[in-house]
Amino acid sequence: MVELRADDLIPEKLVVEHDGVRCMDQRGDGACVALDPATRLCTIYADRPQTCRDFNRGESLCLRILGRHQPAL
Ligand code: SF4
Repeated sequence: MVELRADDLIPEKLVVEHDGVRCMDQRGDGACVALDPATRLCTIYADRPQTCRDFNRGESLCLRILGRHQPAL
């Protein structure tokens, strides 16, 4: 789950609050609501949260998470 910082400008329809902490909402499978399930691309990439900007694409944690969300064949 991606926690949001005060200066993240995310559309409110994509945000949920857990225990007073604003976060990116998730789909039933745990994927971020901003992730397009068909293209596997972030739909708010230019305005993505700072946490996402700090996360290095292709690092081991990234690949493990992606592996959990591969569509069933
Ligand atoms: S990069 Fe985009 S799709 Fe991925 S977690 Fe961040 S906001 Fe969601």
